[in-house]
Amino acid sequence: MGFRPFVHRLATRLGVQGSVANSSRGVIILAQGGNAARLLDLVRCCPPGAARITGFSVTRTLSRPYTRFLIAQSRRAGGVGVDVTPDIATCPQCAREVSLPTDRRHGYAFTNCTQCGPRYSITESIPYDRERTTMRRFRMCLACKREYDDPGNRRFHAQPNACPVCGPSLTILDRTGQVMTGDPLVEAAKAILKGRIVALKSIGGFQLCCDATNDAAVARLRRLKSRPHKPLALMCESVATARRLCAVGKNAARLLRSPAAPVVLMPKLARPGLLISGLIAPSNKCLGVMLPYSPLHTLLLGRLRTLSRRCPVLVATSANPKDDPIHHTERGLYSDRSSAPDVCLCHDRPIANPCDDSVVSCPGNVAIVVRRSRGYAPQPVRLPRPFHVKHPVLAVGGDMRNSFCLAAGDRAFLSPHIGSLFSDRSLDFYLRTLARYEEWAGIRPRVVACDLHPDYVSSRLAERLAVERGLPLVRVQHHAAHVAAVAAELGVRLPALGVACDGTGFGTDQAVWGCEMILLRPDMSWTRLAHLGYLFLPPMPNEVPNPAVVARWYLHQARRPAVRRAGTPCSSLGRLFDAVAAVTGVCRHATFDGGAAIALEAAATRSEKGNYCGDNAGEAIDFGQSPLVIHPGPLLLHVSRETRTGTPAALVAARFHNTVAKALAVTARTLCRRHGLATVCLCGGSFQNAVLREDLSALLRRSGLQAVTGVRVPLNDGGLSFGQAVMARGCSLSP
Ligand SMILES: [Zn+2]
Ligand SMILES: [Zn+2]
Repeated sequence: MGFRPFVHRLATRLGVQGSVANSSRGVIILAQGGNAARLLDLVRCCPPGAARITGFSVTRTLSRPYTRFLIAQSRRAGGVGVDVTPDIATCPQCAREVSLPTDRRHGYAFTNCTQCGPRYSITESIPYDRERTTMRRFRMCLACKREYDDPGNRRFHAQPNACPVCGPSLTILDRTGQVMTGDPLVEAAKAILKGRIVALKSIGGFQLCCDATNDAAVARLRRLKSRPHKPLALMCESVATARRLCAVGKNAARLLRSPAAPVVLMPKLARPGLLISGLIAPSNKCLGVMLPYSPLHTLLLGRLRTLSRRCPVLVATSANPKDDPIHHTERGLYSDRSSAPDVCLCHDRPIANPCDDSVVSCPGNVAIVVRRSRGYAPQPVRLPRPFHVKHPVLAVGGDMRNSFCLAAGDRAFLSPHIGSLFSDRSLDFYLRTLARYEEWAGIRPRVVACDLHPDYVSSRLAERLAVERGLPLVRVQHHAAHVAAVAAELGVRLPALGVACDGTGFGTDQAVWGCEMILLRPDMSWTRLAHLGYLFLPPMPNEVPNPAVVARWYLHQARRPAVRRAGTPCSSLGRLFDAVAAVTGVCRHATFDGGAAIALEAAATRSEKGNYCGDNAGEAIDFGQSPLVIHPGPLLLHVSRETRTGTPAALVAARFHNTVAKALAVTARTLCRRHGLATVCLCGGSFQNAVLREDLSALLRRSGLQAVTGVRVPLNDGGLSFGQAVMARGCSLSP
């Protein structure tokens, strides 16, 4: 991140003597001379662009007098570790050099400097120095070495520094893995324009790319990935191009250009200025777009533009077989017959730590992290004081959208997106990443936390780790963990009310929970104060429930509420969305988790204000019970009746959203009054639905309540480990 060179430059300018060094505890500055205090002040108040100071302390010490200021060798120290920096998108200066015909890095795909380039993905061990990265195999040429040694140069101590003479180089492979002749970039661009699928070795792993305007190519890529409908991410050259596809708000533009350069989810334009395939994100009101974040991407898009004479838009999605982590080696990619691409654009700089592209949802002014990975991991999330972790915790997360969390003191290190844990390769990836995180963060867990579900792969893994290490195991209820995650991220004053809505979580009564109002107290104890009334679910063999089947079962029960049923009792809001999506005909078969709910949100007419429950939602809520129960039956019957009588699905979907928001708001308001609470934490994957989130927040605010939701930690199960860590932080240590 160029911290040491920055300090060096500043010290030299101020005439300060001494040294600066990386250690596994952080950066250590030794300053002597009249301006020493001024140097420290300046470092503290204006650190360089990509750096973030998270702690600062000054001590007086005796040392030999220095005659100048130097960058000392890295040293290793015990204790709490230094933050390994995330990968940073290409900076404007490097981008300029790559585009400048007279520059020695003209057209060079691995150009970087102290302000940009790979970090986490190339780091093998700490402290961060070239010999402990995958760049160690490349010996710097004289010109690069001169830059690296020159304190006045932008590449002073830039560990991945490289040029066409001495650094990594591109290769292009054919379908069988044989090296092809010709310029790799030109050949890859030609293949894309012919409708082929190109695997590109990106920063954190392989991406599968194709021409986003070519229906046949997109359809083939979907078949290859066995991913019929789930949205695919796009890459385009600039914010200006993104604006021809989506409504790009100020926040979204800032995110697109940010050092993390995530995929940003933004509303599709009704009349786009660029025509892309309708297969990119069907039944979805958003598109996920990112900008090129490495020179390799920029160069490929440039070749596409030159060859086709039009504005290039690429599909760029992670190359990974179902349930497996992202491919990060050529061997892995080619051993996976199902996804072997037509052409592979790769290079000889190995990826040490696989890391998927991050995803941030930015429908309006708020930006909510959906997947926290490249550009964010392994930077820790800071915990506000009341949530500090006394005994270091390893929280293993859930089975889907998995991440783990290592937390100690005020820092919570979330792993990059690991995905589902249903394959040996993911478990392998999990354990390898965990070992590195423990070393780098310098955290030795004294407690293991996992979900309450006894059959989760993650729970069994946690049991094994706890036994192997002789540590106590804490089981945390799924939705309580979601609430704790939001409370801790935002430093919410407890007690507070949590509204946790999602697809599935194991309840304390062994039912499937998923629409829960939870009172969370300062000691992290909690009580379930309300939930969606139970409906019984059929046994479902697939991970992704079939909306049509859920609808049939649910409607049957709504019509005959008195009859007792077989099946699993379920209070999931996700399943209710599934049922309504099927009843209205918006989505009868979902091929990915949350697909039906996303389609229902996309179908809803935003201007429709009607609902099915009146102002006090009296028909739906049973205020007499404890916990309170919101009955879904009447709502389902309304939906079914209106659909049968020919009301357009867009209106029914809107009224359904309005009804759910209203019923949740009335229930939450009642509970806050009864228990003297002022803040409501919205959490769980269902609140990625912007309509539901915004409507409920507005209703709560109108009642004088504060409605908050997490932004840096995913609301979905990607943030579960963070919540588990917070819940387990204060527990007693006796096993
Ligand atoms: Zn740069
Ligand atoms: Zn060089």
